[in-house]
This record gives sequence, C-alpha cells and structure tokens, in this order.
Amino acid sequence: MPKISINIKSGELEKGQPVVGIDLGTTNSLVALADKDGSPRILGSNNDVIVPSVVYLNEEGKALIGKEARNMLAEKPESTIFSVKRLLGRSYSDLKDHADYFSYRIIDNDNEQLVQIEAHGRYYNPVELSGMILAELKEKAEKYCGQKIEKAVITVPAYFNDSQRQATRDAGKLAGLDVLRIVNEPTAASLAYGLGLNPEEAKNILVYDLGGGTFDVSILKIEAGVFEVLSTHGDTYLGGDDYDRTIAMHWLNIAGYDYKNLSMREKQALRLLAEEAKMAVCSGEMNFNSSFEIGEQKLTCSLTLQQLEALAEALTQKTINSVNLALNDAGLESSGIDEVVLVGGSTRMPFIKKRLAGIFGTDKINDNLNPDEVVALGAAVEADILAGNRRDILLLDVTPLSLGIETLGGLMDVIIPRNSKVPARVGRQYTTSVDGQANMKISVYQGERELVAENRKLAEFTLKGIPAMPAGLPKIEVGFLINADGILKVTAQEVRSGIKQEIDIQPGYGLTDEQVEKMLLDGFANAGADVAARMLQEAKTEGSQLIYTVQRFIEKNAEMLSEMEKSQTLQLSEELHKTLNSDNKDDILGATDRLNEFTRPFAERLMDEAVGKALRGNKIGEI
Ligand code: ADP
Ligand code: MG
Repeated sequence: MPKISINIKSGELEKGQPVVGIDLGTTNSLVALADKDGSPRILGSNNDVIVPSVVYLNEEGKALIGKEARNMLAEKPESTIFSVKRLLGRSYSDLKDHADYFSYRIIDNDNEQLVQIEAHGRYYNPVELSGMILAELKEKAEKYCGQKIEKAVITVPAYFNDSQRQATRDAGKLAGLDVLRIVNEPTAASLAYGLGLNPEEAKNILVYDLGGGTFDVSILKIEAGVFEVLSTHGDTYLGGDDYDRTIAMHWLNIAGYDYKNLSMREKQALRLLAEEAKMAVCSGEMNFNSSFEIGEQKLTCSLTLQQLEALAEALTQKTINSVNLALNDAGLESSGIDEVVLVGGSTRMPFIKKRLAGIFGTDKINDNLNPDEVVALGAAVEADILAGNRRDILLLDVTPLSLGIETLGGLMDVIIPRNSKVPARVGRQYTTSVDGQANMKISVYQGERELVAENRKLAEFTLKGIPAMPAGLPKIEVGFLINADGILKVTAQEVRSGIKQEIDIQPGYGLTDEQVEKMLLDGFANAGADVAARMLQEAKTEGSQLIYTVQRFIEKNAEMLSEMEKSQTLQLSEELHKTLNSDNKDDILGATDRLNEFTRPFAERLMDEAVGKALRGNKIGEI
C-alpha cells in the first residue's frame, strides 16, 4: 500500500508535497505557492496571474473558464456565469431579492434547497461551477511549477457559514484537490503580512477588503498564533463595480442621456470604459480623456481623481460606516486596532487609504503588497505551514478524519471536517422527511466518503417524541463538541419542545494509524466520483420529496383544482418518478423543475404554506 505522508497526530504533511493556496474570489481567483525559503508567490506570468471567476457554458455543455469566459459576458449573458461565489451554499430564497443582478437563469425550486443554474437545458450547481474554476487554477499551478498539485488551502469570507464552507470543500474535491483547510480571507491577508506568525504576538487587526462586487471588514484578534474573528461587517453588493457605475452615470448625466436607453452591449462597454478611467486616475494619470459613441451621439468621457473621489463619496462613506459598526461590535475604539490590512483591487483607490489613515494613523496601514494578491499569498503561507515546512510554527491538534451524521439517501453530512483544530464545536439544523415523524435516528460516522455505507459507524441513538408536525417544519439542532482529549459529544435537540438526547464517543478508539491511512486514501481516490454520486443522490431525494409534497397538496386541495390541473400534475409527477431510477442528474432536475414550475401557481393561489416550505436539504429519515 502506498504510504501517505500525513502525520496522523498532527495532520501535518510530510515535506516535499507542494500545497497551494487559492483565493477563490467573487470576481477574480488566484493561486499561490511558497518558495523553498517560505516566501509566497503568485503562480502565473504577466497577463495570466488573475483568473476571472467566470464560467461560460456552450450548447454542448463544454465550459470556458476565466478570461475567455469573461469575454463572452456581453454576447452570451444567459450562459456566462459570473459571481458564482455569491450562489455557493445558498438557496433561491436567499437570492431572490437580487435576482435582477444575475443575467443567467437561477432555478426557483420554491424551497430552501441549494440553488441550481440552468444553461441550454443542463443543470449546474454552484459547487460544480466553482469546481471548474478550481480545476483551471489547479491546471495553471501545475503548469507553472511543473509538478502535480493535489493539495490546497482555499480561502472564504469570514462570514461564510458552515454550508458555504462545506460547499467550497466539495468544489475542491470535484477539481481533484484535497482541501487541507478552509481559511478565512482576512486571516490569510494578515498572514501575508506576517501577522500571526510570531507566537509571542498579541494584536488586534482590522482587515478592510473592497473587491469588485463585495465589501467586507473584519476585526481579528491574534494571540499565540491563533486567530479569532471578533466581528465582521460589510455589504455583499458593494464594490469596485459600483464606482464604475457612478462614473458611467456621471458621463451620461452630463450629456443628458438616459441609462435605460442603452443596449446591453453599450451598458457593458461603457462600464468597461468607466473602469479603465477609474484605474487610470488611481494609477497616477492626471486627467483621463476619452469618448463613447451611442448611435449618433458622442459622449465626452473625462475623469480626474478629485472628481472620482467626490462622485463616489457616498459609496466610500458607506464602507467607513461599516468599519465603525465592526469596531462597535468588537467593543473596540479605533485606537485599539494595532494593524490595518488593505485587501481587494479597489483599495488601490488612493482616497480609501487616506480615509483609513485618518481614522487609524498612517503607520498602522499595511498596503505594500498587491491588494488583489494578498489573500492568495496568505493562503500559500498557511499551506506552507500545513505542509510542515515551517518548523518554527507549532501545529495544533487536529481531527484526522471527518465526523458527521447520516442524512436522507444514506449520505454523509460532515459536521467537523478532517484537519479541524480541536477543541471544536459545531451545530447544525436538520428536519424531518415525513409528516408526523416522531423519531429521528442520529447515526454518527467517521470518514471521507460521501456515502455513509463506506464510512466507519461510531454510534447511533434515537431522538424520540418529536411533536407531530408536517415534514420539514421541526427544527432539530445537532451539536458536535470535540474536546481537547478528542472525546466527541453529540447532542440532538428539537428546538420547540426542548426534547434532547446526547452521547459521548471516542472517535479514535480501536482505530489504528494504518486504518486511518486507508480511510484517507480511499477518500482521496474516490473524491471526485463520490461528490458526483452525492449530487445525483441529492437530486433523487429532492425529486421524491417533491412528489410526496405535491401528492399531499393535491389530496388536501382536490376541490380547488381543475381536472386539467390535477391530471397534468399527475402526469408531471409520474414523469419525475420515472427519472428517479435513471442515473441522469439533468433528467431528474429537469423533471423536478417542470413539476415545480407547473405547481407553483396553485400554491400561490391557495397560499398554501406547506408546499415546498422545508428546511434546506438536510433531512433525516424515520426509523
Ligand atoms: P474580488 O475580491 O471581488 O474577486 P478583486 O480584489 O480582484 O475582486 O478586485 C477587483 C476590483 O478592483 C475591480 O472592481 C477593479 O476595477 C478594481 N481595481 C483593480 N485595479 C484597480 C486600480 N488600479 N484602481 C482602482 N480600482 C482597481
Ligand atoms: Mg477578494
């Protein structure tokens, strides 16, 4: 059996295996690797350092990634997927307020299921799309370092929840990457500046990240090499794009031209010109001068830095308000911040730094690294630590194998991922899958496979006496607490009634290092196929749950529906039912989509709360 180079006790890897750091951004993504001397560097050459986080899908289902995909934005907006990161780990109801922001079709599956995107009759979820971007970065990294890359650290925003982090891990698996750790972007940015590497150091750090479409501010506390997030704030729909739009609007206003009268293509082209103007004046050009043709009319497009600063004052002020709110939440005054780290391409706008320097003092500002590269650079530093290349840094104890529970369809729902630092505490909500379900079996597993049948069962217990409610309504909180000695306490509690059950487990008991090794290897070897199998299983579960709810709905409201509506519903249900035995995910999702689309208006008409009003994905069956 091949030896795997991981130290079971520490999770540390043997030297020699490159581990890359990846910044999977909303607008742009980058990959970096630490040199032999530990200094991180972005992989790529002059004009392909940055990979735009864009996926273009053609009629045959072939994908273009990065720059080539971004070039399709104006021409094929309905099949060019940008801002995938905004969709990761989210449901349609999370996104519906921003539906007009997306130019492609996001499936309204009428419940709390994670979103799917449709392009040319094929269905894609954000995990697959992010996986494509990660695969592109992996390939690029392999090209630039002439070695196979199989291990990575990936960054996510500090506010990402558990399911968004899990989705990011799954995307890595699909790309053929073993994700050693998910790291917060502000933590990575701090590491890039060497903050947190000295165990003697205790500091409060404010990370100000203004990217293309999002703004985040995070306050971190580092002590003995451990980062703690004290507070986060921001606006997920505020970024450099808004500054571009402000410039474009200014030009149109001067000419007395209405934005609404521009074609899609003109809007896109004018925004790009505005971005060019912004970058020019922010890079020292005194006065940007150009023009733009709309039909017969010629728009004068000029800009100075002073103008930009004044035009965008309201946007800038918004970010400063968030900074103040974050300070407030952290219980700190501006003087309590020791370091300020600037992240994101938009912090290249000089007045941003000026404002922050005004609040915190110039000498606290860290801005000598490229702001669009710091997150990836820091991820590479973390990767280097995990690769065991930095002897000076003590690694904390970690969980050698993932821990989770069984959900509907025999799937492993990982609650504490492999390589998590201990002690750790994670809670997650689940719900029932049938009406009046009184019992719920909590089966605890250990391992890296997506189907529990292939993992190691640690224990199981039953939560009894759940009050009778329609499927999907009860909220069952499952908590995993692993203490410093590696003892795992699993609790399950029905939120409304308070009924509770718990159990103590020793996950490491009776497990040899060789067995752990074998489980890890099996996990790596099957990762991609496993995630695909899981997605198929999820589509099947979702489909059969929809048939169940629709059937119940028809029974309950039979007299309110016309014969045509009933027979059509039955037929669509039957068609969906037939696809469930196929192994074609697109067929299943297509049939689910059609049944959903057809029945939604009835539900709206009858204002029936029960149709599709279920908690997202995480259902557990009856015993
Ligand atoms: P994200 O974190 O959202 O993936 P980035 O950190 O790469 O995004 O930032 C992209 C944004 O940075 C874009 O809005 C771009 O216009 C802006 N940007 C890049 N360079 C400059 C510059 N020199 N001056 C002003 N803005 C810039
Ligand atoms: Mg970013």
